[in-house]
Amino acid sequence: MYLPTFERLASEHKSLAAIFALVDATVAESAQALLEPYALASELGEQESRVESALDVSVRAGVLRRQDGRVCSACGQWQQGSAAGGDCTQCQAPLRSRRIEARYRLSDSGRAEQLAATGGVGTISWLPTILAYRGKVRVAIVTIKPEEEDAILHKFPSQHIVRGQRPYQLSRATTAARETILVASVRLTKQGNLEALTVVGQLIDDLAPTCVLLVGIGGASPFGDAVLGDVVFGNHVHDLTVALDNADGSKEFAGEGGPMAESLVAAVTSLRPTLQANVKVDGAPAVDVDALEYTTEDNALNKKIRERLIERFGGAAAGTRVHVGPILSSDALMKNPLIAKQWCETRRDALGIDMEFAGAYRASRAGGRTSLLLAIRAMSDIVGVKKGEGWVRHACVVAAEYAYEFVRRWDP
Ligand SMILES: [Zn+2]
Repeated sequence: MYLPTFERLASEHKSLAAIFALVDATVAESAQALLEPYALASELGEQESRVESALDVSVRAGVLRRQDGRVCSACGQWQQGSAAGGDCTQCQAPLRSRRIEARYRLSDSGRAEQLAATGGVGTISWLPTILAYRGKVRVAIVTIKPEEEDAILHKFPSQHIVRGQRPYQLSRATTAARETILVASVRLTKQGNLEALTVVGQLIDDLAPTCVLLVGIGGASPFGDAVLGDVVFGNHVHDLTVALDNADGSKEFAGEGGPMAESLVAAVTSLRPTLQANVKVDGAPAVDVDALEYTTEDNALNKKIRERLIERFGGAAAGTRVHVGPILSSDALMKNPLIAKQWCETRRDALGIDMEFAGAYRASRAGGRTSLLLAIRAMSDIVGVKKGEGWVRHACVVAAEYAYEFVRRWDP
């Protein structure tokens, strides 16, 4: 069932449920549908009188309106109006039939329900043209790794592929407020900010979604509070794609990037405790803090990382903590914590590191584009420690589960 009123009526009038289901499916297909009792009755093998009574119940519930009219005996066209006399507007023959026949359509409130139930598209059928979906997609999700895409498609199964500059997977989802929304997803074919800049730009131009979400894995800062398996909602991106190499071998960053939209950051911040309380992801791999392989000889840093991991993984199962904070974005793979250390000397507040947020941010702000942007990054490793077995897969699932719950609960 698509329209909540028909769903309610079907449960209140069980013997008429099949009729309500057919009416619901018919109007969900087209808001303009003219419901003919005899046609519905013959489709269902029902008595016409029972169909009419279900339709009249719908009129009383406010979702349909009834119109009286007569069928032209010459051309078979139904004519609205019950007054005798007059000619058929279709074939101009005089209307001879005395029998008044009712037809039913969606009322204004029924049409509003229909629009809400179809995610603003106006039909439950999937349409081939991307223009049908432009401005109608609430959230467009961008992934990079196939495991990230698989985890997202598990939560938002692809129901239709629509082609713009890229093919996009479309899915209808129901929010916690029982609203039907459209979710699109697309995977980058390459890592990196340049690819993110291109694809997010195309995505926004094609679909003009309310919000673009970058969903997947990231690296945890060795200095921040987020550890393996945690999730970071990026409220700010530090763009480190532009760097100057100094003569002494150090790097200096141009320090671009910026904050996400205030309304979105406020929503994420207020949803954080709810997400923390409501999402549970099992299957986190074990962490053996005594068998960590560090990627540098910086003993002070390594000791610090070890202490933080003992704090979280030493006792009972750690579980996921939800953080809202800045993310660094660079095109260099962050294997080297010394580079990260340099960053963190100037960007100490950053919790995680990724390779796409900065490009996506630039794309979202270029040329009068208005789509919001947010990164949801689950930590699959810690900069300074070799990647542990199984964490990538686990973090992909964590990111998708939190993204799903956020999308369900976010009311823009
Ligand atoms: Zn006629």
